[in-house]
This record gives sequence, C-alpha cells and structure tokens, in this order.
Amino acid sequence: MTSLAYDLARPEIIELVPYSTGFDEAALATGVLLYANENPYAPMTGAAPANINRYPAPQPRALIARMAEVYGVVPENIIAGRGADEAIDILVRTFCRPETDAIAVAPPTFGAYALAARLQGARIVEAPLDDAFRFDADRFANAVEAAGDVKLAFICSPANPTGGLVDNEDILALCDRLSRTIIVVDEAYIEFSDAASLAGAAPARENLVVLRTLSKAYSLAGARCGAAVAHADIIALLKKVIAVYPLPAPTIEAALRALSPVQAPIVRQNVARIIEERERVRERLAASPFVERIYPSAANFLFVKTCNGDEAKRRLDKYAIRVRWFDAIAPGAVRITIGAPEENDLLLDAFDAPGQIRPARRSAVRRETRETQIAASVDLDRAAPVAVSTGLGFFDHMLEQVAQHGGFSLILQCAGDLQVDAHHTIEDCMLALGEALRQALGDRRGAARFGMALPMDETRAEALIDLSGRPYAKFEGAFSAPLIGDYPTQMTAHAMRSLADSLRAAIHISVVGENDHHMTEACFKALGRALRQAIRFESDAIPSTKGMLG
Ligand SMILES: *Cc1c(COP(=O)(O)O)cnc(C)c1O
Repeated sequence: MTSLAYDLARPEIIELVPYSTGFDEAALATGVLLYANENPYAPMTGAAPANINRYPAPQPRALIARMAEVYGVVPENIIAGRGADEAIDILVRTFCRPETDAIAVAPPTFGAYALAARLQGARIVEAPLDDAFRFDADRFANAVEAAGDVKLAFICSPANPTGGLVDNEDILALCDRLSRTIIVVDEAYIEFSDAASLAGAAPARENLVVLRTLSKAYSLAGARCGAAVAHADIIALLKKVIAVYPLPAPTIEAALRALSPVQAPIVRQNVARIIEERERVRERLAASPFVERIYPSAANFLFVKTCNGDEAKRRLDKYAIRVRWFDAIAPGAVRITIGAPEENDLLLDAFDAPGQIRPARRSAVRRETRETQIAASVDLDRAAPVAVSTGLGFFDHMLEQVAQHGGFSLILQCAGDLQVDAHHTIEDCMLALGEALRQALGDRRGAARFGMALPMDETRAEALIDLSGRPYAKFEGAFSAPLIGDYPTQMTAHAMRSLADSLRAAIHISVVGENDHHMTEACFKALGRALRQAIRFESDAIPSTKGMLG
C-alpha cells in the first residue's frame, strides 16, 4: 500500500472494511435467490423493468466493461455511480479530513465541488479564472502550493458555466508539478469539444482522476449515471465509500443501451447537431441588440454577457424560456443551453436575432427484440452521412443504395441473430427504416407520390411509391439462385413488404433480368430513386385532396 492514493486517503477509510452484500452477479441470471430478503413477486401488474424486485449489481460487470471500452481503460480503473456528482462527493469524503484538508477550485465553476467540501468540513482554496474566464495554470498551482494539504484540485474542462477548455498539456504538467495532490478533471462536456479526453491517461498516473457522465452527450440526465476513471488504487478506495447499491436497475439498463455499439453513431450525430446549432446560435446571437459578448464554448451551452439585461429577461419570460442567470459572476451574465433547432429559434426571437429554419425532417428509432437490436436514424434534408452495418455485407450495400439514391442521410446499425439466419436482420432493418422514414416525414407536409424505372445492364427494375398512409406491397420478379453471398434472394420481396408496413406506404416493385445480383441491386436502387422523388421537399401543401395522409 505505497501508492499516493493510500498516502492521501483518510486513515479511517483505509481501515474501513467494505460493506458485504453477498451479491453474486452470476446468480442473478440462474440461481435461486434466497439471500437478500427480496420479494419474489412482480411489483406491479403490466410491464415492469426487468429484475426490479432484485437488488442491482453494486458495480454491474457489463456496464463497467462497456464504460471501460468507451473510455479507453480497463474495468479496474472505473467506478460508476449516480452521475459525476456522486463521484465528486465520494472523492471528497475519501480524501479530505474535516477541518484539516482542502480542495482547490477555479471559480466561477461548477458548484458541486465546494458543496461536497462544505458538507465534509473541508477547506476550499480558490484560484479564480482570469478576466476572460480562462484557466490560469500557474495561478492555480501557486494557490495549491501556498495552501498546503490540498488533497483534491478540481479542474472543469470544458468549464461550467463559462464554457472554456483547459489545455490537456497544462493539466498533465499540473499533475507533475502538484505531485502530492490529486487532480480531478471534470469532463462532463468533453464530447462537445474537439479535445481528446484524458481518461486514457488516468490509470497510469497516481494523481489524475477523470470524471465522465452520461447526462449530457448521452441524453441520460434523468437516469443518473456517471463514472470516475483513475488509478486502480484510487478506484479501490472509492468503492469503499460509495453507496452500497448506487445504480438503480432501470438506470443500469438505460446506460447499457445508450452506450451500446449500435447506438454510438446516433450519439455522435446528436452531439454533432448540438455543436452545429451552438455555432449557428452563436453567430445569430452576436447580432442581437441584447448581447455584449459571447465567450468561447466547447460545451452544449453558451456563456453570454448581456446588455440591457432586464429587458432581455423580460423578453425571455414572455417566451417562457428558462435560462440560467449568473449575475453574481458578472451583471447580465447568462448561461444558455443549446436546445433543439426549434427551441433555439425561439430563443433567437426572444433576443431579437431571428434565425428561422424549416422544421427538421429527421428521426431516430430504436428497435429491440430477442432477435435483433437496431438503431436507425434518417435526415431527409441531408444526403450524408450514410453508414450501414448489419453484419450482412450485401444487405449493407443494398441499404446504402437506397439512401444514396434516395438522397437522404441514413445511419443504421444492427446486431442480429445471424447465427440463425439472415431473415430477422433483413426484416427488422426494413421495419426500422420504414419507421424512421415515417417519423421523419411527420404529417407528410411537402411530401409527394412517385416512381422510377431503371436499367442495369440486362436488368430492368421499376419501383412505384405512394406515401398514402396505407401499407400495401406488391413484388413481381423471380431469381434463379437462392443466395447472393450471405443474402437470400427471396428476402427482397419480404424486405419491401416490411418497409411498406412500417412506412405505411404502397410500394410496387417489379424486376426482370438474368443476373440475380443486378436484379436485386436494381430493385433497391429503383426504390431509392422513387423515395427520393416521393420525399422531396416540394411545398407546404399536403399532397392529397383529403388534406391529410398517414
Ligand atoms: C452536469 C455536470 C456534471 C455532472 O453531472 P451528473 O449528472 O451528476 O453526471 C458534472 N460536472 C459538471 C461541470 C456538470 O456541468
């Protein structure tokens, strides 16, 4: 026990024998569970979260393993808890002796660090950001050295509420210089920045802790799930202090799904949209008569100094827009979260800097059954990215043809039961695609009905589509071989039916030719071309004399 963690931790924590639960994660799946005074009956009639009558795993193996993968470390370097907030709290309780030890912060900063210190009776050493709210590493290090007994130094990067990023090289240099203090880097917003996370660097250092959360980039604020990444000795001590069962079962389930590989491209896309919106809002807001200065932000919010703040507040109130004012930091200072484009447009109106954009025609759907897990997202007003991964090479190629010829962005990831056969994967992917298209089309305002015929060498394929709101599928054509690679040729007719069902459209496909590969590809290409016409944004009219479709 010679590492820095054991030198710095409160002696009573080192002595502490962890609470023993007798918990056996493997038994949860198969065993007869008579050890934890749980109730064997379902807690409510109807669907209840799985295993909700059982105590959850204190540190669920699958979740920790997946977090380790995502954060680039091994499970021994991770502890998960109720948000990064809980990690802050247990860090302070593990290392700071009341009345004696201190934490260091760089205000204005996230309030949870000082709150945890006050609750523990620890001292708070402050080394403020500079006048432009930039982190001053030298000032920070000097303050820590002068104070003595600073066990934890909190650096928020990107910073809340001011938005600025701290240079990773500066942080690592601080780790070297302040070798008797644990540097805690709060990376709650790192996904919205172009900086690399320091998580991968933490395990090899004895005095670096990196905090991550699923609350922001992963849209899971309500689940309460975050993690600390650090040297294995630090993690081992924190595990003695954290609540015995910190993560509720529904949280574990939601976190596993949000972090799953099939979901990753959609998380990246959501983050990219927020970054894009942040820059749009920044540009527009700069023209507002109420805005004096917008600070650089690497997060999902903007920190803004307003002028005529009372009038700005009155206008925001009128629009029922809630933002976070920080008059104590600077009069008229406000932190504005970047929302959905429609919400941001309202905000811009309130700031008298209009930036009206056409309603988005996009959607993201998730489809999970025993056979397949699928995440799919489409954007009808954008041609890229197109990224399909189903485990079936030929089918990936077919779906990419639909999106490319359809002129829309499609991200579709599927983990299916290919060990059984290709059937469920193809069927469920088409159902997910149709559902995503249907949701993106909304009330189908501006959408139309169309069709397309195209030749491909000796083959001729025709696709006719009516986005009528009523499912109907018709397929004419015959293939000579049962398989193209791993793709069963008979699935093409079935795929079109699945799509028609979930898109609620009439889809007629006919194909004649000699080469199965050409014929199949031509069907999907013609489908894409017909879709391109059918979903093209033409006008604000709904293309039906009834005034309503779908
Ligand atoms: C939002 C936030 C967190 C933590 O959030 P949790 O929901 O507790 O994971 C941590 N640090 C900062 C700076 C934040 O803004």
